[in-house]
Amino acid sequence: MSKLAGRSYIVTGAGSGIGAATVARLIEDGANVVAVDLDADAAQKTLDDLGVDKGRAIAVGVDVSDESKVDEMTAQGVATFGGLDGVVNCAGVRGVGNILDTEHGVWDLNMDVNIEGSFNTSQAFCRYAREHNRPGSIVNISSQAGVEAVPNRLAYVTSKHGVVGLTRGVAIEMAQHGIRCNGIAPGMIATAMTAGMRADPENLEKIRKAHPIGREGQPEEIAAVISFLLSDDASYVTGIMMPVDGGITAGAASF
Ligand code: NAP
Repeated sequence: MSKLAGRSYIVTGAGSGIGAATVARLIEDGANVVAVDLDADAAQKTLDDLGVDKGRAIAVGVDVSDESKVDEMTAQGVATFGGLDGVVNCAGVRGVGNILDTEHGVWDLNMDVNIEGSFNTSQAFCRYAREHNRPGSIVNISSQAGVEAVPNRLAYVTSKHGVVGLTRGVAIEMAQHGIRCNGIAPGMIATAMTAGMRADPENLEKIRKAHPIGREGQPEEIAAVISFLLSDDASYVTGIMMPVDGGITAGAASF
């Protein structure tokens, strides 16, 4: 029996990278999916590429920082699948800049999408689940940069540390109601978000050396852990921020 059979999840950032890989994994594991992205066509393309049955998934275009649109999308998911069992927050943005030169627009976008977006979907789901007395599971994607600082990404670092707080706060508030909330802190994953950093062969070599496992990760390796955290195999796991990072936060691989 597929471990998520009969369950239904919202996946944000479904048009690309980790979100798209998560849609694929959840479908493979038997779940129905509300595939959400800023760009509805990108979310639909993910479903088309997978050849998902129409009854198993819908694509919805939503800016996760827009509270009312997130509420509407959540209601649409409930109406389509007859209920929801959780949310996976993969939608995210990244911005360059340090304390001296970070532009306020970059700062605001990182807070709005990375923190408020995850807050909006979590709040909509938790309100729905409490109203219907249902259990559930939320997975937030933070980052290596959410558990330790990295230079020249101040808005991103701050927002991803915020995701850690959101994850722990929701976990302790909702545990009594059977709703678990966990997070993943990925290292360098080969997606569009990091394509620029990986394009220069010298830089790529440095990145690989920094990860004790000796390579960047693949989005499917994050999706596999997301599926585990959503499933009953993780029934006693809540409030964690799991590094899935090739060992980069364990310590330096070499001097
Ligand atoms: P990605 O390939 O760029 O995917 C991010 C997706 O989020 C894109 O489809 C993007 O849509 C969507 N998105 C952006 N803003 C949105 C909004 N306001 N509302 C709805 N969707 C929105 O990046 P990724 O690497 O898969 O990243 C997924 C998550 O993992 C992010 O939170 C990221 O910070 C985190 N993460 C990634 C890495 C890594 O190495 N890749 C490492 C640590 C953490 P558009 O393309 O249309 O903008």
